[in-house]
Amino acid sequence: MNGLPDSFRTLTVIGAGTMGHGIAHVSALAGFQTRLFDVDQAGLDRGMAHIDANFKKGVARGKVGEEAAQAALSRLCATSDLAAACEGANLVIEAVPERLDLKRSVFADAASHAPDTAIFGTNTSSLSIADISRDMPHPDRVIGLHFFNPVHIMKLLEIIVSEQTSERTYATAEAYGAAIGKQTIKVRDVPGFATSRLGLVIGLEAIRMVEQGVASAEDIDRAMTLGYGFPMGPLRLTDLVGLDVRLHIADYLSEHLPDGAHFAPPPLLRAMVADGKLGKKSGQGFYAWES
Ligand code: NAD
Repeated sequence: MNGLPDSFRTLTVIGAGTMGHGIAHVSALAGFQTRLFDVDQAGLDRGMAHIDANFKKGVARGKVGEEAAQAALSRLCATSDLAAACEGANLVIEAVPERLDLKRSVFADAASHAPDTAIFGTNTSSLSIADISRDMPHPDRVIGLHFFNPVHIMKLLEIIVSEQTSERTYATAEAYGAAIGKQTIKVRDVPGFATSRLGLVIGLEAIRMVEQGVASAEDIDRAMTLGYGFPMGPLRLTDLVGLDVRLHIADYLSEHLPDGAHFAPPPLLRAMVADGKLGKKSGQGFYAWES
């Protein structure tokens, strides 16, 4: 593959949720031997079922050939054994929940099973790459690989480099991005990077507007789709991302950015998360979703 050595064939994805299953999907489709790992067997089964369903939809819509989909599925394996998942991996990508302690311990465990030369990519939406890599044996091989939901459709891969990330790691990440058909941008390791910081300000303001009764969720979304050409309104997008995910990021950015007050989570967001209204994944957010 362009820019990648022939020996770069094997990928491990840790976490089979909204993002992890999509990352496994695009990696297997691009020709990588891909292992999908999760601590939760039901989550792993759900992730594999989503991949299967997305390939079926892709074939039905003519987006991917039947043979290519079958070949991708044959390159993909689900496992609940981390050692087996990481064996021989060239790249390990984590997509576990947005908590620094969890991401650090997941990477430390994975590093103890992966080859010494492996690169570690984190799909964090906001956390510092340097903090995540602090106790890793080779912080120069840790990088941010921020995908967008749904991963098999969205074209962007935001690559985040910390001060320790080596040029070589960046070049490999960029080549991996090209191999899976993404357009990449390179961003410095600052809280929220480029995309989460901008996207969140609009999302939180839209929630404050619902809270203040400025307009309905549907009309606020229409304001942005019809008035500004956004492909999707900020509240529908919040439902897709997950209200819990957005709340975590808002809490983190409000603490860590110098102008953090913009990111203070509105009480309505906190109340909806406490109520289990997490968006599409729970069936209810600003919209009702069918499972
Ligand atoms: P999710 O809750 O849908 O999935 C997380 C998965 O991780 C679950 O299946 C869970 O069982 C698994 N998990 C938990 N602990 C684990 C462990 N120790 N080892 C292995 N698996 C474990 O979350 P998500 O929405 O896919 O988000 C994952 C990451 O991606 C977060 O950092 C989030 O900020 C980021 N992200 C999310 C979106 C989005 O739209 N949801 C977009 C970009 C980035």
